[in-house]
Amino acid sequence: MNFEEKRKNLVESLKSREILTKPNVIKAMLVVPRHKFVPKEAQSSAYMDSPLSIGLGQTISAPHMNAMMCEYLELKEGDKVLEIGTGSGYHAALCAELVAPENSKTPGHIYTIERHEGLVENAKRSLKETGYDQRVTVIHGDGTLGFPKEAPYDKILVTAASPTKIPLPLRDQLIDGGILCIPAGSKSYSQTLYIIKKHGTHFDTTKITGVRFVPLIGKYGFESSE
Ligand code: SAM
Repeated sequence: MNFEEKRKNLVESLKSREILTKPNVIKAMLVVPRHKFVPKEAQSSAYMDSPLSIGLGQTISAPHMNAMMCEYLELKEGDKVLEIGTGSGYHAALCAELVAPENSKTPGHIYTIERHEGLVENAKRSLKETGYDQRVTVIHGDGTLGFPKEAPYDKILVTAASPTKIPLPLRDQLIDGGILCIPAGSKSYSQTLYIIKKHGTHFDTTKITGVRFVPLIGKYGFESSE
């Protein structure tokens, strides 16, 4: 079976589990080649529904988690999105496919921050190879500070586990009416995924499900133990 067939099968299985429901997210999952964002030795497992190692102790999340987060964020053409935790760059590419599909007249943009320089370089290479580099800006730094230069954002996606539900800088960098998707809880893999909608000074918080993410390390995250 080739990569495209495996990708189709994965999408069908996520649809049958009712994880994938929105037509634009289904299309994005069918288009973005996940195997181009993982190390060569892991490519044969790229379309299994599981996280994979991408080096430096970090992982690319399982496809069902990418799909869920994209659906809950209600991503649409034209959105300006901030992602904290670029990792492989795959989730950023998926978001780019949703907010800035090819030939869009009102393309949005993805700003994504990663603290490991080695992963920044790999993600930039994969995004260029797959044609997403013009729609995604990869930044090396501490994502818990957000990226004030381009704020406010329509949507903010955090792909590492935070000690708090709304790290202070992210609260301020989310547009009124915007959505934050964030896993929060303990450093050791016992966390909850939250969807938080901003209405003026009020934040509507919905618990989605229990999750396991690597920790968010930084000024408004956990302390590094490296
Ligand atoms: N979204 C990624 C993908 O598509 O491959 C997966 C992200 S991985 C589960 C979490 C990432 O968050 C790791 O690469 C980790 O280095 C990064 N990270 C942790 N704390 C961070 C911080 N304060 N700023 C930026 N990146 C951070």
